[in-house]
Amino acid sequence: MAGRPGGDNRPMTRLILATRNAGKITELHAILAEAGLDHELVGADAYPEIPDVKETGVTFAENALLKAHALARATGLPAVADDSGLCVDVLGGAPGIFSARWAGRHGDDKANLDLLLAQLSDIDAPHRAAHFACAAALALPDGTERVVEGQLRGVLRHAPAGDGGFGYDPILQPDGETRTCAEMTAAEKNAISHRGKAFRALVPVVQELLG
Ligand code: IMP
Repeated sequence: MAGRPGGDNRPMTRLILATRNAGKITELHAILAEAGLDHELVGADAYPEIPDVKETGVTFAENALLKAHALARATGLPAVADDSGLCVDVLGGAPGIFSARWAGRHGDDKANLDLLLAQLSDIDAPHRAAHFACAAALALPDGTERVVEGQLRGVLRHAPAGDGGFGYDPILQPDGETRTCAEMTAAEKNAISHRGKAFRALVPVVQELLG
């Protein structure tokens, strides 16, 4: 482990984030740095030999914990994992944990969004409430675990708007906003997002378990 800058001799803890998405690593790094935590943060790409974990959980929290524990066990490092999705009230919380593969193929954002809009086509504005949800888990190699959650509530538009973001961003208009998430800058969305909230809720947990 490397030393900390500025003559502080305490060892710097390496923290691994269970994602290959550079945007998520940058976001968590900025949030930890803002809180004065200087842990070295690496993505799962730093350990290409470790296979992805099957997401067999039935909640965001279970899947985040599964991923964090698997990575902590395999690397011997404290590991953070997140799991997120869109929950639509009138669909009883679906697509939920199936958000990435709602139309059948994992990660086909356009097909997922088109199917959801078709399913909701007869539903009027008062009943189009939905939220993005994110669970963020921290697991240590000794099995210690914590999980925190964040939400971004809003309403679903009838048609996509905006070119930014990914997934269901073009149809979720956050409460109190006139724009969809896809019409906001990344910084604007991160400030209110489910993932931003969950990552910020993780700061005291990192402080408690890792110092
Ligand atoms: P993941 O757990 O972050 O990989 O997200 C799973 C799926 O949920 C994504 O493929 C998207 O369909 C959806 N999703 C999660 N977060 C967001 C978001 O911030 N905007 C739009 N879609 C999201």
